[in-house]
Amino acid sequence: MTLSYDPPSVLNALLSPKKDTLHTVPLQLPGTNCLIRSGVSLASLTSFRVGGPAQWYVAPRSTEELQASLEWAQSQKLPITLVGAGSNLLVSDRGLSGLVICTRHLRHTKFIPDTAQVTASAGEPIARLAWQAAERGWQGLEWAVGIPGTVGGAVVMNAGAHKQCIADILVNTQVLSPNGLMEWLTPKDLGYTYRTSLLQGGSRLVTQATFQLLPGANPAEVMAATAKDLEMRRATQPYNLPSCGSVFRNPKPYYAARLIEQTGLKGYRIGGAQVADRHANFILNCGRATANDIFQLICYIQQQVEKRWSVHLEPEVKILGEFAAR
Ligand SMILES: Cc1cc2nc3c(=O)[nH]c(=O)nc-3n(C[C@H](O)[C@H](O)[C@H](O)COP(=O)(O)OP(=O)(O)OC[C@H]3O[C@@H](n4cnc5c(N)ncnc54)[C@H](O)[C@@H]3O)c2cc1C
Repeated sequence: MTLSYDPPSVLNALLSPKKDTLHTVPLQLPGTNCLIRSGVSLASLTSFRVGGPAQWYVAPRSTEELQASLEWAQSQKLPITLVGAGSNLLVSDRGLSGLVICTRHLRHTKFIPDTAQVTASAGEPIARLAWQAAERGWQGLEWAVGIPGTVGGAVVMNAGAHKQCIADILVNTQVLSPNGLMEWLTPKDLGYTYRTSLLQGGSRLVTQATFQLLPGANPAEVMAATAKDLEMRRATQPYNLPSCGSVFRNPKPYYAARLIEQTGLKGYRIGGAQVADRHANFILNCGRATANDIFQLICYIQQQVEKRWSVHLEPEVKILGEFAAR
């Protein structure tokens, strides 16, 4: 695939931007209304509200635009980074090279009464889906109401809460490879374990997923159960400042939050990043945090917990781009 205006000199100049130069003229993928922009700040696209610019950025609204974006990246030999709602990402202050594909505008939901299944596009907010299911009296997604991610991100992360997770309800998911291959995968194909899947770290893109729910309950009761889940989370987790939710996976049989708290790190601060008082596995951006502040705090917590308990905390948050070693 070639660009709609394609003098190679223009393209080459754009592909090797001078430091600190942001290009404001977007490129249009031929045959689509899709614009590829350069220098788009990723801070506003992540829940931590930190991160530098994407070398190239695109937010397709259809499978065709998505395919065209992938083809363009392939043709330019650019690495791809996939971003959903950005609620589990720590992006470097230096930004990301290559093409960032944001899937949050791929929106479509279909509830199928005959099978009690719901099929949703990658960009659908998983919390919205939970409320829609509850309104129908369909059970099975109540736990997802406080998770600020998309369907795509939830499938990749095997998102979960209250002892339930995506692996419990996923029927299948459609994924698109950079070479254009479209496949339907089942939970078995995805090798699901706690907060992991074989899709993590790869370049296959989730385009949609189908979930099996349980119909026939009283909608008012499912709505009440969903609201209770949300209330419980708000009472125990800090939702008032930017974060990525839990930073570390729980190292079985322990809870990361408890290990961090018992190491005396609640409230510990580096620059604008602070270990939350309300939940020690949350790091908060208290206003002016940089991605580097957060990264340094992650490393510090790991060192201190390892020293005190001989337990290694593995980040659940996806750390993208270059960071200086601590
Ligand atoms: C306040 C708060 C509370 C949270 N609570 C929970 C919780 O209770 N349980 C929980 O599991 N998580 C929780 N999270 C973390 C986060 O919301 C989940 O991991 C969520 O599933 C991430 O979805 P996302 O769309 O934001 O993905 P992103 O953060 O954008 O991406 C996460 C990973 O998925 C990949 N990805 C995203 N979309 C696609 C796609 N379409 N195709 C292929 N790869 C893709 C990305 O490349 C990245 O590797 C919380 C976060 C916050 C901020």
